[in-house]
Amino acid sequence: MAGRVVRRAFKYRFYPTAVQAEQLARTFGCTRYVYNRALAERTRAWSQERRRVTYADTSKMLTGWKRDAETEWLSEPSKGPLQEALRQLQGAFDRFWRKQAGYPKFKRKGQSKDSATYYSNCFTYRGRQIRLAKQSEPLDIRWSRPLPEGATPSQVTVSRNTRGQYHISILVEDTITEPPSTGRVVGLDAGITSLYTLSTGEKITNPRHERTDRERLAKAQRVLARKQKGSRNRAKARLKVAKIHGRIADRRRDYLHKLSTRLVRENQVIAIEDLSVRNMVKNRSLSRAISDAGWSEFRSMLEYKADWCGRRVVVIDRFYPSSKTCSVCGAIASTMPLTVREWTCRCGAVHDRDVNAARNILAVGLTVAACGDGVRPPRT
Ligand SMILES: [Zn+2]
Repeated sequence: MAGRVVRRAFKYRFYPTAVQAEQLARTFGCTRYVYNRALAERTRAWSQERRRVTYADTSKMLTGWKRDAETEWLSEPSKGPLQEALRQLQGAFDRFWRKQAGYPKFKRKGQSKDSATYYSNCFTYRGRQIRLAKQSEPLDIRWSRPLPEGATPSQVTVSRNTRGQYHISILVEDTITEPPSTGRVVGLDAGITSLYTLSTGEKITNPRHERTDRERLAKAQRVLARKQKGSRNRAKARLKVAKIHGRIADRRRDYLHKLSTRLVRENQVIAIEDLSVRNMVKNRSLSRAISDAGWSEFRSMLEYKADWCGRRVVVIDRFYPSSKTCSVCGAIASTMPLTVREWTCRCGAVHDRDVNAARNILAVGLTVAACGDGVRPPRT
């Protein structure tokens, strides 16, 4: 079977030498400076002159800043990461204009993740060693899994999180062999008591440790709130909170990766609901549950993995009353408060709320898959 070529990122931890750490700190400082200054320029041009500054404009400005005696230190780091900072800012504005995000924010030292992206002309990859531009030694990378055979990295991003750990994300072209097709289909409901419920009746619970981690997080946050602003102890407490946050996020991402890989392998069609988190804020407990569950991240994992494997993810309208509709007879219950976990339809069918919802999502998803995306499920 012929494989398909896709771009994939592989992330590893690395340990910089003292010299590399210092150089990276300067590079991060420069990318942050360029990002913030370009943001300030764009904001000023718009608020004072109603003029839109483009990515190309900021790129020209950068050339000027490098020549300026006051900021000539900007010409010290490799030029790739600085250009990339401007591109990221452009991306932030694009998302703002599409109403997917708020207005871009300034990056603050120690509070936002530091990162620098190098294109293929700014690093070398030889014999499993990566050497960044202007560095004499290769990075000490912990290769937790190998890069695909014969892969050529096209771009690398090095970052330092608020816990002080360094990671490198390596983008390569990889060939994926589609797994054999399966006749199976599944519907998935993003739940409240369970993380996800499948139309097969299986309930996917939160990863183990999650609960104790959350308790630890709450405790660390209380400690942080008590520390005096600007004190050294406050900085320590903040680092502790960031560490726990990071651990929760890492574990969750790992868990969602395993789950999405499994669902995509097992099923030809996966039906999910379009839960746009923004529209659910009125119900705070639910919105918390959903954003906690990393729904949008999980959805994108499902979508790109399905794309790699020749599977299909069908997203159904979020106004479809999946919880209120009986999956046996199609009758719609008038109300269905969040507290109701089990209900009996007038046809006699007894439903677990989430399994019933997942079955409805699957049924609508299959209709959409068969008839094309133009078909919309009925609304209430
Ligand atoms: Zn019924």
